[in-house]
Amino acid sequence: MIKKPNLRGHTLEEIRSLITSLEEPSYRADQVYNWLTCRSAKSFQEMTNLPKNLREKLSNYFELSLPQIVEILRDEEGTTKIALRLEDGEIIESVIIPERDHFTLCVSTQVGCALGCKFCLTAKTGFKRNLEVKEIISQVVIAKNLLKEGGDTLPLRNIVFMGMGEPLANYTNLIKALKILEDKRGFNFSRKRLTVSTAGLVPELRSLARDFPTALALSLHAPRDDLRQSLMPIAKRYFLSEIIDVLRSFPRIKNGRITIEYILIKEVNDSLREAEELYQLLKGLPVKINLIPFNPHEELPFSKPTEDRIFSFQRYLLSKRMLTTVRKSKGVRISAGCGQLRRRLEGKPLTPNTINFESTIGTSSFL
Ligand code: SAH
Repeated sequence: MIKKPNLRGHTLEEIRSLITSLEEPSYRADQVYNWLTCRSAKSFQEMTNLPKNLREKLSNYFELSLPQIVEILRDEEGTTKIALRLEDGEIIESVIIPERDHFTLCVSTQVGCALGCKFCLTAKTGFKRNLEVKEIISQVVIAKNLLKEGGDTLPLRNIVFMGMGEPLANYTNLIKALKILEDKRGFNFSRKRLTVSTAGLVPELRSLARDFPTALALSLHAPRDDLRQSLMPIAKRYFLSEIIDVLRSFPRIKNGRITIEYILIKEVNDSLREAEELYQLLKGLPVKINLIPFNPHEELPFSKPTEDRIFSFQRYLLSKRMLTTVRKSKGVRISAGCGQLRRRLEGKPLTPNTINFESTIGTSSFL
């Protein structure tokens, strides 16, 4: 049997050409697109402004299936990790993060990751494949549906590409997903609320600046090439000087500032020497430094600095007038914190359809 095309992950123009090829007028495509994006429809049956026979016809030609939710973990602050099973059985994770007046969704762009950063759990299981556009977009649809079903009224307003994988290593699919998410006729996310986080793939960063500049977060983690190379193998390919060069000319999207992510790892990169070098490296650039205390894990050979050390690092940078915040890592208890998402290995399958909450089921708004 030939597989029906899935309409998710397509632009409005593509959906128009698919639907008009069935000799239907193009405004029908616009209605379908609106259902898929603004109203997070799960099936053609829900599209009640289409005639019943058209809904049936469309379901004979196309499908709208979404990845299957296999697990939802929620902590006491409301951070929610969603595990999704893809058509080939691979499992990816997304994280919904509650903020004061909106939700942020952290999405994955690859199954696993090929970069091998020494501090990151996703790296441990290696790389399997890139996500397709529909798999990136589906994470947004599923999160919006969960929030709606749970009765949450705050909007899902920000998307950060900080889940599993290196977004710029899946460049073509990333750009198409970004275009669909920004499209005003559909999801309508503002560009400054779409943040791409990268370990610093220089050629792709240059292309992003040209093709679709979004808000940007750069995973720096060290102010010197030798130290960075010992933590991030990709740093052997792209030197700090090249990265800084790209940042200098990158279009200023979000408040005019690029976020510099810097994991603070005890006795590795957390001394005042590094703080001073970081200042020298970044001074004059339109950046905000986000210090991320290392999220420890038994399989990783590092630990988190003391609060004292974290705050003296921050204080030094503040004293140099560098805008510097310390990220309060959310979702660590449910392994949803930065660098804690990992590809599940076969042999450790999750039971389909089980929703495993932490002990705080009572506070969940999703059931
Ligand atoms: N590959 C992209 C997207 C992943 S984002 C990137 O490198 O930016 C994940 C963020 O979490 C990155 O800033 C990453 O460096 C950080 N991270 C990874 N492992 C971590 C850990 N153990 N503790 C804290 N942050 C971590």
